[in-house]
Amino acid sequence: MTDLRFRTLGRGLEDHFGAPTYRVALDAGSTCPNRDGEKGFGGCVYCDVEGSGTGALRTGSDLEEQLKLGLGRVSRRQQHDGGAHGVIAYFQSYSNTYVEAARLREVLEIVKPHLGSPVVAVSVATRPDTLPEECLDVLEELTEHVEVWLELGLEAACDEVLTKIGRLHTVDEFREATERAAERGIGVVGHAILGLPGDGREGARRTADVLAECGVWGVKVHHLMVLRRTILEGWWRQGDVELLEPERYVDWLADFVERLHPEQVLHRVTGESPPEKLLAPLWDVSKNAVRAMLTRTLEERDTRQGSRCGAATNPFFTTGARA
Ligand code: SF4
Repeated sequence: MTDLRFRTLGRGLEDHFGAPTYRVALDAGSTCPNRDGEKGFGGCVYCDVEGSGTGALRTGSDLEEQLKLGLGRVSRRQQHDGGAHGVIAYFQSYSNTYVEAARLREVLEIVKPHLGSPVVAVSVATRPDTLPEECLDVLEELTEHVEVWLELGLEAACDEVLTKIGRLHTVDEFREATERAAERGIGVVGHAILGLPGDGREGARRTADVLAECGVWGVKVHHLMVLRRTILEGWWRQGDVELLEPERYVDWLADFVERLHPEQVLHRVTGESPPEKLLAPLWDVSKNAVRAMLTRTLEERDTRQGSRCGAATNPFFTTGARA
């Protein structure tokens, strides 16, 4: 048992849904205001042309085909292991609510035949400033049939850093978006990146404080990675980017985890990227090893998730689970 000092999603998914549950990542082919000129061009400095997603649509795989292939993969894996399984349909790429409500409805229709079995949850990634009420209406309707999660990028709880990295939204916009989603019974998962330029260790602590205050039920956190064909690649090649080594990252991560609320669930504590995309840092450390290092660090400090949390549970805190 290595994860007792912090709450992870892994085994929790099986307990929650009653069967091993896997993600199927989907690319609905949207865009985002940082790329189409509404707010900016070129995207967030660390984001590649696939919008931090699979890029499946650009390779000619339409949504239905992506889902079919993904469900097939999970089913084969489960046949090998034996028993039932659940699937989280994960609309990962770009800002999925940066579309007309009718388009969002059309996208979500594709998963409807699979709701309940095997799709037990639908997870939709977007930005805090691209969440119109009409799209929230569509997602709220879906909560009648299946658990709905909204993945919202905060990345850093500092407007200056958010400007520097080209996010072009504010911390307050994140706060508002989490509250509006949770009021609708949608479970919010907040994203954070540790080691962003100008953020530092204090930034890691501050970001955790804000995620705890906002009462998001899920948290995804990872270290800054330099991918090919990003603005960050240029900065890194000029020697302007300092990246975290595993030991330093885990030290900052421990600070971060101590400041989260004990009820929040860590969906991810480290990042990974396909080797053909990743330029740096090249860690020779697995996800399990990072989790084990985090446990060891918290043990040495004699702390755990929530030890330094000053936030009360948010009144809107919801896992998105159906009543
Ligand atoms: S908002 Fe998301 S999709 Fe858009 S540039 Fe940033 S990371 Fe990429």
